[in-house]
Amino acid sequence: MRLVLLGAPGSGKGTLAARLIQHLKIVHISTGDILRQAIKDGTDLGREARDVMNQGQLVPDHIMLDIIRERLSRQDCANGFVLDGFPRTIPQAEGLRNLLASMTVPLDKVISLEVTSEAIVSRLSARRVCLKCGRDFNLNTNPPPADSVHPGCGGKIVQRDDDKPETIRKRLEVYRRQTEPVEEFYRKNELLIEVDGTGSPEEVFGRILRIIDAN
Ligand code: AMP
Repeated sequence: MRLVLLGAPGSGKGTLAARLIQHLKIVHISTGDILRQAIKDGTDLGREARDVMNQGQLVPDHIMLDIIRERLSRQDCANGFVLDGFPRTIPQAEGLRNLLASMTVPLDKVISLEVTSEAIVSRLSARRVCLKCGRDFNLNTNPPPADSVHPGCGGKIVQRDDDKPETIRKRLEVYRRQTEPVEEFYRKNELLIEVDGTGSPEEVFGRILRIIDAN
């Protein structure tokens, strides 16, 4: 199965993707994770992406399309994938459509997680992440240990630079302006399924499974 997950930053895409890949035995492709890894590795891509990300802006489309083209060409995508954080603009959505057409593999569904802005700001300000393995925590619903060390891997648990209040506001504005039109793009293609993203991760996952199983 080939899925795209849409939703504002903090709508729960990463958490949902982690459950979907286990259930469907497909791979998780998070462009945010790929960029954060490039920053950690100090690559040219990482140097180019770091300032853009810290300002809550988007990395240029041609760079993102190159990343996705390379990633989707790998053997582990043969069984399917869930794209998390891509496409984020209309040119990216068009680029993905052309790329998949050239590979003769169709997208099955685009799931859009609907969450209010208030819930997003509250979730993102409380989000903490393990620097080593990327696992998410939340100060309210899933607090990290008092020493901020992840017992699973020993990594330090921190707040993402782009989860600071000023950058959150910028990211939400960028989402409304550049990524919401992508929902319309997929609505026209009759691939879009809008899902209520409020509630616990189990509740949201249950809603999605019912949709996937019904189709
Ligand atoms: P995320 O982890 O998906 O919230 O992404 C974090 C940041 O990485 C975003 O705010 C963007 O700066 C950058 N980014 C991730 N995916 C994309 C994309 N598809 N296009 C442009 N920038 C992206």
